[in-house]
Amino acid sequence: MAQFPHAQFLTSAWQPRQFPADTGSEVAFAGRSNAGKSSALNAITGRKDLARTSKTPGRTQLINFFALEGERRLADLPGYGYAKVPEQMKRHWRELMSQYVETRRSLVGLVIVMDARRPLTDFDLQMLQWAQAHQIEVHLLLTKADKLSRSESTAALRGVRAEVGEAVTAQLFSAVTKAGVDEARGRVLGLLAQGGKKEPR
Ligand code: GDP
Repeated sequence: MAQFPHAQFLTSAWQPRQFPADTGSEVAFAGRSNAGKSSALNAITGRKDLARTSKTPGRTQLINFFALEGERRLADLPGYGYAKVPEQMKRHWRELMSQYVETRRSLVGLVIVMDARRPLTDFDLQMLQWAQAHQIEVHLLLTKADKLSRSESTAALRGVRAEVGEAVTAQLFSAVTKAGVDEARGRVLGLLAQGGKKEPR
């Protein structure tokens, strides 16, 4: 399966006017801090340090955009759920995320990365709701599956599927064992290939 050999950091955005041109297609990755989003992005793109950029101090609250070939992009959304984040920061996160999802016409898919051992958070559900309100497809990655037994991970997947319904796809994933990496990459590539088919918003 093709990887993403040409993926490269494009730009960071703190507000919508800093977003790159809204052309082609884009898939965004969201998730609570520490869920394993950077590891998932690196595993899926086959680039060991792609998402390191997003972890550099000062960039963790930004949307980081990565360019692929042919007007396709990945967006790494700021991790959410730090208990100690000031209220003002939370408000900014909320506003930036809602503006991003509402206005971004090239956004064709949202990958929500969650720890397979934990339930969906309120933030995950908020992202899911925004995406569904704007006809953006959602794929859930239940990562760190290597920390669970086979029966535990099957139960976790079944539970999440029951919670989100059939419109959302979900899978088990591990950046450590690489289980589910091909499936996730296939889903992301499939979403990116849909570029240009969306109704104008
Ligand atoms: P982010 O904050 O969501 O970007 O999370 P990171 O990718 O930085 O991962 C957070 C922590 O979880 C790190 O210590 C990773 O090594 C670990 N981690 C990430 N993915 C996996 C995984 O699939 N399995 C295991 N066992 N640990 C993981």
